[in-house]
This record gives sequence, C-alpha cells and structure tokens, in this order.
Amino acid sequence: MNYSRQREIVLQTLKNNVVHPTAEDLYSMISSEYPEVSKATLYRNLGQLSDAGIIKKIEGLDIPAHFDHNTHLHYHFICEKCGKIFDVSSNVAESVVRKTEFETGFKVTSHEIVFKGLCKDCKE
Ligand SMILES: [Zn+2]
Ligand SMILES: [Zn+2]
Repeated sequence: MNYSRQREIVLQTLKNNVVHPTAEDLYSMISSEYPEVSKATLYRNLGQLSDAGIIKKIEGLDIPAHFDHNTHLHYHFICEKCGKIFDVSSNVAESVVRKTEFETGFKVTSHEIVFKGLCKDCKE
C-alpha cells in the first residue's frame, strides 16, 4: 500500500468519526480493516496532517491528544463521565477575542475554549 493511500485512509477514518478520536482509537478502527497500516505510520500521518492544518490536534486536556477533521473555529465540550468530545459552535462566545483584546491590549492570534460537564446521554 502506497503512502498517499495510507494517508487517505487515516483522513477518511477521522472524517467518519464525529467523537474526536485519539490516535489509539483511530488505530483500532483502522487496523481492523487495514492491518497493513502500522501504528508508526498512523502517528506519522496524524502529525503531518495536523502540521499541515488539514486536521486539528486537541491537546492539553490531561488526556491523550484527540484529533479533529474540522479545522474551522469551534469549541469543545468534554463529557467528564464518558470522555467523549463534542463540537460547540463558536457563536457561544462570539466577541471573546474582541473583548479580550480590548481589555488587555494584547493581540490574540488564536484561542481555544473547552467546556466540561455531562453530555446529554450521561446527564440522564
Ligand atoms: Zn457523556
Ligand atoms: Zn471539534
């Protein structure tokens, strides 16, 4: 299997997954269908895809890095019970950059907002 084919499999598996899988999650999904894709190949592809801005790596959450194919501005909600990560529209904090720049005088180049709590299923 050639390199671009492996990369395509990694990207497609990520796109078909709305729950922001970790590299380990992706590996178990991919290896069941394509046993010839090694873990090293997967990690290398994930690194290259996120460096290129094609996918987004969600880090700094006391948990293994999760991957996101949606690189448009949006926030994340982490369920503290089941550990799933959901997308939250950036509309919820529309003026956060403008307000922060106004309050501090800093220039904001990027920002991330992570909400934590219980998802709909776990709330019940
Ligand atoms: Zn949950
Ligand atoms: Zn996301």
